[in-house]
Amino acid sequence: FNQNSNRLRIAMQKSGRLSQESQALLGSCGLKINLREQRLIAHVENMAIDILRVRDDDIPGLVMDGVCDLGIVGENVLEEESLQRQLDNEPCDYAVLSRLNFGGCRLSIAVQQESAYDGPASLNGKTIATTYPRLLNRYLKQQGVQARIVTLKGSVEVAPRAGLADAICDLVSTGATLEANGLKEVEVIYRSKAVLIQRKDLADAAQLKLINTLMPRINAVMQANESKYIMLHAPKAKLSDIIALLPGAENPTLLPLAGNDDQMAVHVVSSETLFWETMEQLKSLGASSILVLPIEKMME
Ligand code: ATP
Ligand code: MG
Repeated sequence: FNQNSNRLRIAMQKSGRLSQESQALLGSCGLKINLREQRLIAHVENMAIDILRVRDDDIPGLVMDGVCDLGIVGENVLEEESLQRQLDNEPCDYAVLSRLNFGGCRLSIAVQQESAYDGPASLNGKTIATTYPRLLNRYLKQQGVQARIVTLKGSVEVAPRAGLADAICDLVSTGATLEANGLKEVEVIYRSKAVLIQRKDLADAAQLKLINTLMPRINAVMQANESKYIMLHAPKAKLSDIIALLPGAENPTLLPLAGNDDQMAVHVVSSETLFWETMEQLKSLGASSILVLPIEKMME
């Protein structure tokens, strides 16, 4: 891992909730990554890029210290590290290049199901276990709540049952883990997604050029992921009603159907997927042969 080379260095999570999607995103952008073995560093074969695979907690620091040029990490981890570094007077500069469309979760306070909860003031004098002490501390301050924070690196959800804390502040996506541990979510204190960040003082022309190539690709991949190609047959009399039901379809392609004067084929790139309810409405307007197809890449 040559610090002086002008290969672009990207940090991503080695294994965990963000690793597959981070890897898939870079793969979709045309990076040929050979990730076999348990290597720390992977060289991209077709571009001047090296991938550093680390624990997610290390990614913000690697970028803030300028060891890596780009990083893909959850905003929760990024913000926690930023707050900690501000407190410690350590470098904490970075730029967010893109908010990505994966890794969504919320940082929430949860208490035991049977305990009475009546707003943040109920937390006064309580002990709260968390992996995110700085984010929690900021929230408690804003709310004017005095509580004791216990920092745990893992298994936060068992802390109340183990008698280590009265409440927890942990990441939630579905809430199933909380429920399985007899806890109820009472406050959402932070909403997070994965982000692509860049170190602040990046100046190398070759590296900047590479980033300028990557960014439109990343945006194109994200847009394509959210978009669908929709095809259907519509009765001419109901065309405008049908088109109005298709999300983000200002300029549909209309094609005649051979041997059928009453109907037309409608093709649109929709900004989101079609829900069953919409498909049923389309059908009740007389649409038929409705197809919803994924889009792999898209450039406007
Ligand atoms: P590492 O070994 O890299 O430190 P980790 O165990 O700290 O991994 P993961 O559980 O893999 O972290 O989660 C990584 C990130 O995924 C979280 O910081 C968060 O941004 C995001 N995430 C999305 N949904 C969830 C969820 N339900 N629970 C926890 N994290 C989630
Ligand atoms: Mg971690």
